[in-house]
Amino acid sequence: MLKSIVLFFTLLCLCLVSLPLKAFSSTETVSGIGQYDENNVFAKILRKEIPATIIFESEHVLAFEDIHPIKPVHVLVIPKGKYRSILDFSEKATTEEISELIRALGTIAKMMKIAEEGFSIMTNSGHNGGQTVPHLHFHLLGGEKVAWEQSLRSNNTQIKEEQK
Ligand code: AMP
Repeated sequence: MLKSIVLFFTLLCLCLVSLPLKAFSSTETVSGIGQYDENNVFAKILRKEIPATIIFESEHVLAFEDIHPIKPVHVLVIPKGKYRSILDFSEKATTEEISELIRALGTIAKMMKIAEEGFSIMTNSGHNGGQTVPHLHFHLLGGEKVAWEQSLRSNNTQIKEEQK
C-alpha cells in the first residue's frame, strides 16, 4: 500500500515538472531525419485541427502565415505530403510534388507583392539548422531587407571575439 502511494506521488511530481518544460518545447530543435511525427503542429494545420491564416492552397502545397513573423511578410510554404525535412522530400517526393512546391514559392512571392523588391527563401534541417517543426517548410521572407549573410558574418565575428 505504502509502495503504491509513493509511486503515485513520484508520478505526480514527474508530471508537474514536465508541464512547464512542455510549454517551452516549441523552441527546441528537432531531427530532420527519422519517422514522420503525425502530431507535429503543421500536420495538425493540414488536418484543420488547429487554425492558420491560409495564403495559398493547391493539390500538394499549403502556405500560411508564420505565427511569429520575423519580417513584414513571413509565409510558411509546406508540402501536404508527410516529409520531415528537405532530406526526406528530396529523396522521396514525386516530381509533381517537387515542381508544384517550387512553382508555388514563386506564385506566393508575387501574390504577397514582394517579387519586385526581392525576398528570401529558407529551410532549416535538423539541430544545427535550427529546425523546430518536423514537417518540411520553407520560410518565404520579405517586405524589408533580409540580410542573412550580414547577420551570419556578424555572429561569426562575435563568436571569434568571444573565443579570443
Ligand atoms: P523552424 O524553426 O525553421 O522549424 O520554423 C518553424 C516555424 O513555425 C517558426 O517560425 C514558428 O514561428 C512557426 N510556427 C510554429 N507554430 C505555428 C503555428 N501554429 N502556425 C504558424 N506558424 C507556426
